[in-house]
Amino acid sequence: MGYGADALAELVQGWGGKPFRARQLLRWIHQRGVADFDAMTDLARDFRATLAERCHVQAPGVQLEHRSRDGTRKWLFDVGAGNAIETVFIPEDDRGTLCISSQAGCTVACPFCSTGHQGFNRNLGTNEIIGQLWWARHAIQADGDTGRLGDAPAGNEHRIISNVVMMGMGEPLLNYNAVLPALQLMLDDNAYGLSRRRVTVSTSGVVPMMDRLGEDCPVALAVSLHAPNDTLRDRLVPLNRKYPLRELLAACERYLVHAPRDFITFEYVMLDGVNDTDAHADELIGIARNVPCKLNLIPFNPFAQSGLHRSPAARVKLFAQRLMDAGIVTTVRKTRGDDIDAACGQLAGEVRDRTRLTERAAQRRTISIAEARA
Ligand code: SAH
Ligand code: SF4
Repeated sequence: MGYGADALAELVQGWGGKPFRARQLLRWIHQRGVADFDAMTDLARDFRATLAERCHVQAPGVQLEHRSRDGTRKWLFDVGAGNAIETVFIPEDDRGTLCISSQAGCTVACPFCSTGHQGFNRNLGTNEIIGQLWWARHAIQADGDTGRLGDAPAGNEHRIISNVVMMGMGEPLLNYNAVLPALQLMLDDNAYGLSRRRVTVSTSGVVPMMDRLGEDCPVALAVSLHAPNDTLRDRLVPLNRKYPLRELLAACERYLVHAPRDFITFEYVMLDGVNDTDAHADELIGIARNVPCKLNLIPFNPFAQSGLHRSPAARVKLFAQRLMDAGIVTTVRKTRGDDIDAACGQLAGEVRDRTRLTERAAQRRTISIAEARA
């Protein structure tokens, strides 16, 4: 599962197999979602035996699965040593977006992010990253629906996950070596065949790796801006101390040379009284005028330890209007899956805390979402 097309071809060739065998294998595993080598009927019997002896196809184990009233689905995967990561599927009329994780925890430690509050546990492997897509597609198809509780939109059944965004837990560009082959598999016609415009990497601004991504695999890019000046961004996105706004914006310009879209998406989480005043909007306009971009305002998803609050809806509206009046394309993200905490890092943190408490009490049992949220 963790092998990209090139690595798989190398592996198969190392066993004396032809390169097309690797492509067949990719199609079995990723297009058809088959994990059992014996079921791969067009592979030679002895090749299947070699595979069964030396390899296995396995997604991370599901610890919890939950479905929201609005059709949003969320899986919590156990990645060992008490660590969990999360994957969210958001069905909409014209697309189905899967939000996947790249690390268990995160080193960047943004104070508004519950993943950041958990600290860093470890990088995920390519297998664990692509395994989230493998599993989710399988699960959604097995249900024979799009994840919605109502009727499936007609004609879209064959590719229900139409978009993938790396906006779950972790900073994808700080786990570049594992993320790159996973992205390549998403684009590979023998695997998931998504277009570069439909795969988005979200980054807090790891400047040198933005350049690498532009060279190696220029998918759509979202940059977590969250503040219009260095003083505030140093606080909200601590990585800014290493790569300040001037360098970040220059990297965005360079990325646009390769990007599949002619703009960068800037994400901006709306924090009450912190970054949401008219003065902040005006500073932001100054930035957005210099880089071809779209602004995505995200209502903050509150959690207890953050000490921060969501900007009131009226403030978000005024802020957005001010940007739009200045000619900046601005959207406000709809909150989805609120009833299952389907926001970045939310659920995993709560379950983990509860898991520790539970372990301390030496009561090993499965925690349901209802219990974890109680
Ligand atoms: N590390 C990457 C990708 C994962 S975070 C990054 O920071 O871009 C994905 C998005 O969710 C980021 O824009 C992040 O700022 C946002 N986010 C994190 N915590 C949030 C919260 N509590 N409420 C709203 N958005 C949040
Ligand atoms: Fe890490 Fe992104 Fe959360 Fe910041 S917002 S702590 S970079 S996952």
